[in-house]
Amino acid sequence: MKLVIKFGTNVIASPDNTINKPRLLEMVRQIATLHREGHKIALVSSGAIFVGRQNAPDLPRRKDIPFKQMLAAIGQVKLLNIYEQLFDIYGITIAQALLTRSDLANRGRYLNARNTFNLLLEQHILPVVNENDVVGVEEIKIGDNDNLSALVANLIDADRLIILTDQPGLFTADPRQHTDAELIAEVPAITDDIRALAGGTATGMGVGGFSTKIQAAQLATRSGVETVIASGHEPDVLVRLVLRGETLGTRFVAHISHVESRKRWILAEAVSGALVVDDGAAAAITRRHRSLLPAGIVAVRGEFPRGATVVIEDLQGQKCGRGITNYKSADIRAILGHQSDEIERILGYNYGHTIIHRDNLVALG
Ligand code: GLU
Repeated sequence: MKLVIKFGTNVIASPDNTINKPRLLEMVRQIATLHREGHKIALVSSGAIFVGRQNAPDLPRRKDIPFKQMLAAIGQVKLLNIYEQLFDIYGITIAQALLTRSDLANRGRYLNARNTFNLLLEQHILPVVNENDVVGVEEIKIGDNDNLSALVANLIDADRLIILTDQPGLFTADPRQHTDAELIAEVPAITDDIRALAGGTATGMGVGGFSTKIQAAQLATRSGVETVIASGHEPDVLVRLVLRGETLGTRFVAHISHVESRKRWILAEAVSGALVVDDGAAAAITRRHRSLLPAGIVAVRGEFPRGATVVIEDLQGQKCGRGITNYKSADIRAILGHQSDEIERILGYNYGHTIIHRDNLVALG
């Protein structure tokens, strides 16, 4: 299974405002158990600002954004250093990925990030993700790691997103004010009522509260990623959720698969150009659901960047598919008709051997 696991600052911090290393070690131990079982995991961890503050006690206590960005820059190094040491105990190599909203909104950068994450996961390396707070000014920042974790889940086509916080899940009312509040085990659909419940429930130290967690669940489930919000303080929470299939926390059901959601998205996108393909490539796409290779392309219409959505037409002008291209139009013109292993020689670089990978291709007709 491909998993995105998100720790809020309240999973990392002790009530006395120090880093809770024993708990972090315990969480890392659980992730290592899942990793050993073959699960592919990306960890989204908050806490850079918190750790930065711990490590710079002599700095003035300011609340402005540049100051927080500075704390994040200090803390991110320390935080990753701790993760590196803890994961090293279990022989797991980690990688750092710092993202902003604009990285994920730009097609080319989205594809680059997706390729990098997929390669890391294939090599059993564990990406540790945070927002790039240093450049994350208002206009481009995601702002909370709940939403970031949902974007990462979408980026890597995760099967499940697990958001760990200091609450056992979503309750019918705020449990700190209503003793009769009950934990909601399953949310089949995120309705206004669910959003209203989340509105009143804050969580501890991080930026997000329950409302950003619900936003994240909505974003993730819409792209086919089942989401669970559970307590990071619950013993063995990850092992019980993933390996034992226990019902813990609140589960948000995804009604479509991520392949289907990606395909819907491709169908809804505006088209920036067209690729005309020979009969062999047309048949490979429509009948055998194969990727589109440069060898099968005979012409390119329009100017478009890497990451654009294009339509694929056969020699008779019939539409046979739509997809997201790995190469810009000028590159495709240079390599069309050639074998994929010639791409590097012709362009001087390559983004892989497919023009449109079958995961990013919807066959039509
Ligand atoms: N990126 C922030 C940090 O690492 C956390 C954002 C959040 O709490 O959601 O401190």
